[in-house]
Amino acid sequence: MSKDTVQNGVVVSMDYKLTVDGEVLDSSDDAGPLQFLAGHDNIVPGLEREMIGMKIGDSKDVVVSPEDGYGEFDEEGFMDVPRSEFPSDMQIEEGVELNITDEDGENQFARVESITNESVRLDLNHPLAGAELHFNVTVVALREPTAEELDHGHVHEEGHNH
Ligand code: ZN
Repeated sequence: MSKDTVQNGVVVSMDYKLTVDGEVLDSSDDAGPLQFLAGHDNIVPGLEREMIGMKIGDSKDVVVSPEDGYGEFDEEGFMDVPRSEFPSDMQIEEGVELNITDEDGENQFARVESITNESVRLDLNHPLAGAELHFNVTVVALREPTAEELDHGHVHEEGHNH
C-alpha cells in the first residue's frame, strides 16, 4: 500500500503552530517537526481527522473545538487531597502544576487551585480544556511505522524510546 498521504497507520512528521486566543502556545520552531502515528490517538482527534489525505508539502489551517480537542472544561474536575498526603518537602503553591498518578496508574495533569491548612484543591482539567485550538500544520514527511511502533501505538524517536 502506498503511503503518500496521511492515513491511519502512517507516521507523519509535521511542522505546526498552535494558537489559542491569538497567542502562540506551541510550535515546531523550537523542537522541530512533531511525529505521530496516525490512527492511534497520538494527537487531538479534531486535528488528525482534518489531516487525513494530506500529502507531503501540504499546509492547512485547522480550528479544533474543545470537544474535538482537550475536552470541555469540567466544573466537577476538581479533587480535594489532604495535605498529609503530599511529601512534606514538596513545595505546594497555587498555580503549581503537578503530575499525579490516578487509580488506574495513568499519569494525570493537575494544577493546584487553592490551599487550606487541611487540604489542597487540585484542578484536574487539562490546561487547554475548553479552548478552541487554532493549528497551522504542514506535512513534512510520511513513512511506514516499524513493527514495534505499530505494536506500541506511538512513534519512537531518538531519545524518546519507551
Ligand atoms: Zn514505545
